[in-house]
Amino acid sequence: MFEKVLIANRGEIALRIHRACREMGIQTVAVHSTADADAMHVRLADESVCIGPPPGRDSYLNIPAILSAATITGVDAIHPGVGFLSENADFAAMVEEHGFVFIGPSPEHIRLMGDKVAAKEAAVSLGIPVVPGSDGAITEDEEALQVAESVGFPILVKAAAGGGGRGMKVAGDRDGLIQALGMARSEAKAAFGNDAVYLERYLGGPRHIEIQILADGQGNAVHLGERDCSLQRRHQKLLEEAPSPALNESAREGIGKVATDAMLKFGYRSAGTLEFLYENGEFFFIEMNTRLQVEHPISEAITGIDIVREQIRIAAGSTLALSQEDIAFSGHAIECRINAEDPKTFMPSPGTITSHHVPGGLGVRVDSAIYGGYRIPPYYDSLIAKLIVHGRNRNECLMRLRRALEEYVVDGVKTTIPLHHELIGANDFINGDYDIHWLERFVDQTPEA
Ligand code: ADP
Repeated sequence: MFEKVLIANRGEIALRIHRACREMGIQTVAVHSTADADAMHVRLADESVCIGPPPGRDSYLNIPAILSAATITGVDAIHPGVGFLSENADFAAMVEEHGFVFIGPSPEHIRLMGDKVAAKEAAVSLGIPVVPGSDGAITEDEEALQVAESVGFPILVKAAAGGGGRGMKVAGDRDGLIQALGMARSEAKAAFGNDAVYLERYLGGPRHIEIQILADGQGNAVHLGERDCSLQRRHQKLLEEAPSPALNESAREGIGKVATDAMLKFGYRSAGTLEFLYENGEFFFIEMNTRLQVEHPISEAITGIDIVREQIRIAAGSTLALSQEDIAFSGHAIECRINAEDPKTFMPSPGTITSHHVPGGLGVRVDSAIYGGYRIPPYYDSLIAKLIVHGRNRNECLMRLRRALEEYVVDGVKTTIPLHHELIGANDFINGDYDIHWLERFVDQTPEA
């Protein structure tokens, strides 16, 4: 097992990884920007190294500085966390070239899944159902029109290098498609430096359902069930739950088996997530995330498995100590993302936390790196905390979540806590009756939260 791990990230996820390492008897090295000198992950780590000024590109994305910090502190491995360099295949390769272990999949798997056209082709060859659309990237408008004729309108134009919903445009007819192609290409070029686009049938009211995978690359793979992440605004997830109110046991087992079989065939190693849209009883693969996900704690809550610990064990060369039969699903879990932003406009709200009270009690977990007096820097993602609640069933989970939100105090900045209060009181949500478009309609209809 590793003796020392460098955590190439910040905020709550850096702390999450630190916790797993400490419980495994592994020492931690935090890296941080000058803006994060007082951050909780820096305070708790065994050692810390400043890697640059505040902007992400100069610090948390600064590969030479991170590799130098790893060399100076003599770590065995580097955990990339989520975001930043976590899906950068070149970084993963460089980490290994410098003699460290990258806690994640192989650079080849990261690279393949990072290209959405190649990922979809790989999915098809692995027996995973995908959304009907073009075979690969589209270069000619005429070709696009032909695909649209056979797939039907409305149709979605997506960027091959996509992420965060950028370069994605819906078209209702032929003229709309020509326009959408132009817009999607220029948006993708500006955002990713790559204007390749492809087409997909536009699903009217699907749910976003993703399967958590653990695989060791040595012939073993398991799934930890699904997470329903349909509550999104501008393609950003706000609240996730597991299991999904929309799936029954046989649907869960079916898609879980498709996913684990595919990962075995693929030879995948590490934690990963297959994202699907689910409509009228059918699953359609949209992408694979070759890293830890922000919402991983809800899968931990219903399975009792520490996903980060497993990720570290696998990276250290251990085989999975779990078989699918060992995984027992218990109860229901919900995660609320607490962002420092206006709950109505979603504008970031950085500032100083004047007072802070964290909820507790049975079934309540808070993953957060903030504290009273902490100054939230304006340079990074606005996620400041995750409230994860577990109950024996969905109703108990909802009641517990309501009282946990009532206890939660974060003063000094605006947060999404009031929005979560409103959301969990909505009848559709209580009934589990929502799709990926529901939250945007809800936010538009709700008076000042
Ligand atoms: P990105 O990588 O840009 O986030 P994804 O392919 O993961 O793009 O899609 C992001 C979101 O866009 C999905 O969660 C879903 O809400 C919506 N979406 C993607 N593909 C489709 C589709 N074919 N039909 C309808 N909505 C879609």
